Amino acid sequence: MRPLIPFVHQLDDYEAEQWCAALAAQLPDCDMRLFSQLSAVEKIQVGVAVVANPAVDDVAQLTQLKWVHSVWAGVEGIMANLSHQPFEIVRLTDPQLAQTMSEAVLAWVMYLHRDMPQYRQQQSVSEWRQLAYTDAADRHIAVLGLGNLGQRSALRLVDNGFRVSGWSRSAKHIESVACYTGEQSLSALLSQADIIVNLLPLTPDTQGLMDRAFFQQVKTRAALINFGRGATVVESALLAALDQGQLSHAVLDVFAQEPLQSQSPLWGHANITLLPHISAPTSVTTASRIVAANIHRYLTQGIMPESVDKARGY
Ligand code: NAP
Repeated sequence: MRPLIPFVHQLDDYEAEQWCAALAAQLPDCDMRLFSQLSAVEKIQVGVAVVANPAVDDVAQLTQLKWVHSVWAGVEGIMANLSHQPFEIVRLTDPQLAQTMSEAVLAWVMYLHRDMPQYRQQQSVSEWRQLAYTDAADRHIAVLGLGNLGQRSALRLVDNGFRVSGWSRSAKHIESVACYTGEQSLSALLSQADIIVNLLPLTPDTQGLMDRAFFQQVKTRAALINFGRGATVVESALLAALDQGQLSHAVLDVFAQEPLQSQSPLWGHANITLLPHISAPTSVTTASRIVAANIHRYLTQGIMPESVDKARGY
């Protein structure tokens, strides 16, 4: 009998069927099915499930679960709802996602580096004014978070001539990237960086990390790119830093509440570029290949992929 692997989700039907079909094509030796297609008896036989923002009540019915594989890179939602459950949680680590994110980081760093927000503003008032050019080598970029996405992004910035530093929880050695850990080194880094790129996961430690004290430490007229998670930034502190001129500009792709409400003051702010969570969309094609390979390895060799550290929160 082929092992039964359910896809447990709260997506719309079309998206769920797309994922299920892509996973089924990669797992011909498994019986890949939508959760809604499982009988009560089948539900208590399942050992592994693929999940996309699953409902707690659905997962609770899979009483023999050993681990779940999420199709997303960020796990704060699943951690908030399911970390108390006895099974392990595996997240998506996809080199293609890292490549897509590094492209977005490079694009928006270039946008700030070449003063596009200011030229756009000058155009709106028909102002012909040439700003002083800064060489990329003199532009210091700080990447907060040096995981799958942060490391690739940092290296892509190095390839494009920028001076790059990175910050993470554990020490790293990345060629041509000055790597730091710890709160004190973060303060020093913030005081020197021209552009701060957030690629930290949302955890109890990073929630609200970018508060008033954080923005007080940044170099005057620095810019922020937030591609990690919205709740890492305290919105009122960000707005104050922009309004006081401490920060020159913020590119925001992620928000504490998504979609961002139409009455949010962020929409109309002259010094904010707002994106609807598009910096690195998950590719169903590459993600399903990776998820399927992990499940195949587990079923044939008993090797489980590295799981989320529930104490750390990522
Ligand atoms: P990851 O591989 O888990 O890397 C996380 C990095 O953050 C690691 O370097 C980690 O340090 C560091 N970190 C975590 N907590 C920290 C703390 N308290 N202090 C200092 N450093 C800390 O995650 P990833 O795959 O790169 O993804 C990062 C995040 O990007 C995701 O969690 C998600 O929120 C976001 N994301 C956004 C989009 C989008 O479209 N906007 C798309 C995908 C993902 P260590 O290396 O020492 O563990």
